[in-house]
Amino acid sequence: MSKRVEVPGSGYEISTFDFRVRTPNTELLTPKVAHSLEHLFAVALRAECEEHQLDLKVLDVSPMGCRTGYYLTVLNPAGALPLSRATEAVRAMLPGALEIGELPGARLETCGAYREHDFEGARAEIARLTREEIVPLEKPPLLD
Ligand SMILES: [Zn+2]
Repeated sequence: MSKRVEVPGSGYEISTFDFRVRTPNTELLTPKVAHSLEHLFAVALRAECEEHQLDLKVLDVSPMGCRTGYYLTVLNPAGALPLSRATEAVRAMLPGALEIGELPGARLETCGAYREHDFEGARAEIARLTREEIVPLEKPPLLD
């Protein structure tokens, strides 16, 4: 899971969760799918929080360099975002991510590699995730 940093004097903390979509050291996301998922998850997680998780503010969704998942960074009231709730928020954002009809932000002005995308591949990955169980793991197993 995660790292947490208290925001001094605010009653808030910043939480970062590892959201794995592939098993490490097995079949990785392609670079294009990983990039498109970054755009889709950022929009869908923000929308989920703005609509249903009003005390949470999404700061960032960033791809892991190993292409197995994403770091989800959220500002939340201290103690209000256990792993179980973060897992629920991820589960809840997936249908919204699948409903996005056009890849957000994939333009020259807004993306550093706007040609390096695979929207259909990303949608297939999200569809797969909606059929799988999203499992909260405090300590993920190491696989080789
Ligand atoms: Zn981009």
